[in-house]
Amino acid sequence: MPVLDPATGQQLRTVADATPEEGIAALDAAAAAQAQWARTPARERSDILMRAHRLLLDDADRLALIATLEMGKPLAEARGEITYAAEFFRWFAEEAVRLDGGYMPAPGGGSRFLVTKQPVGPSLLITPWNFPMAMGARKIGPALAAGCTCVVKPAEQTPLCTLALAEILNKAGVPAGVVNVVTTSDPGSLMTPLILDPRSRKLSFTGSTAVGKILLEQCARTVMRTSMELGGNAPFLVFEDADLDAAVEGALAAKMRNIGQACTAANRFFVQRLVATDFAERLTARMAQLPLGPGTEPGVVVGPLIDGDAVAKVTELVADARARGAKVLLGGDPVEGPGNFYPATVLTDVPDDAMICHTEVFGPVACLATFDTEDEAVDRANDTPYGLVGYVYTENLRRGLRVSEALDSGMVGLNQGVVSNPAAPFGGVKESGLGREGGLVGIDEFLESKYIGVAL
Ligand code: ADP
Repeated sequence: MPVLDPATGQQLRTVADATPEEGIAALDAAAAAQAQWARTPARERSDILMRAHRLLLDDADRLALIATLEMGKPLAEARGEITYAAEFFRWFAEEAVRLDGGYMPAPGGGSRFLVTKQPVGPSLLITPWNFPMAMGARKIGPALAAGCTCVVKPAEQTPLCTLALAEILNKAGVPAGVVNVVTTSDPGSLMTPLILDPRSRKLSFTGSTAVGKILLEQCARTVMRTSMELGGNAPFLVFEDADLDAAVEGALAAKMRNIGQACTAANRFFVQRLVATDFAERLTARMAQLPLGPGTEPGVVVGPLIDGDAVAKVTELVADARARGAKVLLGGDPVEGPGNFYPATVLTDVPDDAMICHTEVFGPVACLATFDTEDEAVDRANDTPYGLVGYVYTENLRRGLRVSEALDSGMVGLNQGVVSNPAAPFGGVKESGLGREGGLVGIDEFLESKYIGVAL
């Protein structure tokens, strides 16, 4: 199947388009390697991951270029993603050797409880196109650390990053059969038999809420464990007591990282009335300075969107907001091809019923609305089925903590526009997902507690 450069529409190369039979062969390999990998001492698994961390960093320039070419993000951001991906391997290398257990007397006496942790087993890892390296590492790292083998299925748009990652893992010493990558243009046909196969014991998915719901239903058939990192609709609250310079910089980071194509992207800005005009002007001025072009060009911040459908979707959302009374302060119209470009855009006075307030924009469009009271801001921020992350800007500590606790989300950026960190638990509530990736709990997603009751 072809892999396209979103900046030009040109074909970069082709990769294998796996058949469902080849998918099953990958699971055969993972299942066959499982027992031996689980028996491999944790220190050895850890050392392999640590080598992968180093190899990724040593090869960062080449890997970043692959990411930019097939996904579109600016090279500087791609470099950042390689570091971020490598850090997952280091973090989970450190976690692999710290699996804990327990020994305690039964409360009623007469026996003892032994508790140990075991790998859940062969795991299916489905990754999205927006952070192809980091999402691969974020799933493969804890799976290997826990002693699980895996089948990894990258997104159709970005197979090259995952193949490069697999090559690195191979070099780092991962035994044959432990990491198996399948690339396909038809993910449903390939993955459904794997999900229904009782040898698969875990599904870790990052992608849209719509696909996540289908997969959850499929997983119910074999009661398979799942981790689901799904969509977001992040609110970004700016209170009148915020440091506005910091809020504008945080807004740029939360909005423009990955050209707005992140589940953590700020989707709805709510700004308190007293500072609303000032914030809008400053944000517009900063957004207007961001160079647009292919991600390979030095200095570019606004690279191409992933494909033509993405541009069409953003165009439709902006048209709907305008029809409902939103004003355009910057941008607002797609850029002529070739390539899938949409310019940095700022909309103000966006009514809450606009489609753009209820849909993940996944593009460089900031939607501004005004609020009066803290309660109102929290209510409007929470008025969404999603709950991945929220951002809060205020210099008032009490308000910052009060609002952070009141937001219905798995994560909050309090006076910061980026929350992702391998050492922190990443994940959402409500329709944004189940489970956490990274942090101290990340490895637990690939472990089962085994309790052994011991008669005395
Ligand atoms: P996006 O809208 O960001 O492309 P998707 O949820 O469609 O998100 O894709 C995320 C990942 O899920 C990709 O790897 C894609 O190939 C995969 N995927 C999509 N549909 C299915 C399906 N029916 N079964 C398994 N994987 C799927």
